[in-house]
Amino acid sequence: MLNHTPTEIAERSALRINPAKTCQPIGAMYAALGIHRCLPYSHGSQGCCSYHRSHLTRHFKEPVMAASSSFTEGASVFGGQPNLMEGLKTVFTTYDPDVVAVHTTCLSETIGDDIPQIVGEAKRQDIIPEGKYVIHANTPSYVGSHVVGFSNMCTAMATYFAQEVKPARRRHTDATQINIVPGFVDPSDMRELRRLAEATGFKVTMFPDTSGVMDAPQTGKHIFYPDGGTTVDELKNLGRGVATMALGWWASRDAAIQVEKKAYVPREILDLPIGIAATDRFMQILKFRGGVITPDLERERGQLVDLMVDTQQHFHGKKVAIFGDPDHVLALTEYVRDLGMIPVHVLTGTPGKRFTSEAERILGPKAASSNIKSEGDLFTLHQLIKNEPVDLLLGNTYGKYIAQAQDIPFVRVGWPILDRVGHSLIPTLGYAGAVRLLTKMTDALLDRRDRDAPDHQFELVL
Ligand code: SF4
Repeated sequence: MLNHTPTEIAERSALRINPAKTCQPIGAMYAALGIHRCLPYSHGSQGCCSYHRSHLTRHFKEPVMAASSSFTEGASVFGGQPNLMEGLKTVFTTYDPDVVAVHTTCLSETIGDDIPQIVGEAKRQDIIPEGKYVIHANTPSYVGSHVVGFSNMCTAMATYFAQEVKPARRRHTDATQINIVPGFVDPSDMRELRRLAEATGFKVTMFPDTSGVMDAPQTGKHIFYPDGGTTVDELKNLGRGVATMALGWWASRDAAIQVEKKAYVPREILDLPIGIAATDRFMQILKFRGGVITPDLERERGQLVDLMVDTQQHFHGKKVAIFGDPDHVLALTEYVRDLGMIPVHVLTGTPGKRFTSEAERILGPKAASSNIKSEGDLFTLHQLIKNEPVDLLLGNTYGKYIAQAQDIPFVRVGWPILDRVGHSLIPTLGYAGAVRLLTKMTDALLDRRDRDAPDHQFELVL
């Protein structure tokens, strides 16, 4: 399918071909689903909302509930206030959410609709029932990416709900509560983060938390608001935490800063805990904040170390290309480096100069011979791989076309994964997630070795 991608690379500034990202509202919608009894609300046209819902459904294999202002030509010209007012009325009378989380789209941003003003008017007209909430995040898609949209909605959660705490009252902190902003990860990853933090003795307030929402069990009954999600009370009490751990600079940092601004809860900004080093740093912060590393946690880590040693010969010196969301890509780059691999192409579609400097720091002297690119696209990645082939490709589903064209072993990781199942139920974060990833990478490399082996080298034991 991609046989005609040229090897000659031309600099492009005004054109993206097969972008390695999607638009802001998808991230905002996914984050909003992580609030208990929350209905995401897309202020724009129906087409945007349908695309965002269906894209999330294709990854999670779960229905995604969301409302839309359903703009038509009139709203596009005169503004979307009447649509939003009518939409809020319908949503509260028909679907009875506790929270409506409004995000904008390209169209409503271009018109310049003032969401706080419209919501204020809805309050004055008693459209928002007592005890119910409407929050909002601006998510113009012509800047940033779905990761930025996710971050903006997480920050809105802190802005709207976290109760202000004066420094003098910080003594009322609950020493057993820790806040975690998990990043744009699967529900299984959120469960895993909670499990690890609770194992050290903390009560965890995770926001957002899509576990129990986007991986709800099949019961035969449709439940509009599944049991999961961060409750409004938990969000109000973010100020009680001993710290807010923001996992991923792009997806989580701003929310933690906002909690710090409102309630003086210190922030701990960390990489996504993918692989051994990043998970170690996650556990060290838990320990530093008062958690206890139990023998069971040490055993988990030891098993991962054992597996890394057992498989070292399969990874050493192998070249790898990694693409996807910046927080994922940087953490994966560090992990494969620790496995002895050489990340020769490292690319994200999300803008940000920090991506390049962080990747350079992780790769050290090897960075000089690696291609590191932010705001890149998959056309460029394909060209880079054609110029310098790799042994393994890591990234989301969209990488399959490059993998097929270049005949490269491919491991699906990150978001979205549209052509496989089960990925959102099994974590890739933490020590257990690192074991899973390592297993998938080993399988991909050894399957290729078996496929290409002549009969006399087709071994039973590898
Ligand atoms: S890029 Fe803009 S117009 Fe397109 S789906 Fe996203 S929000 Fe809608």
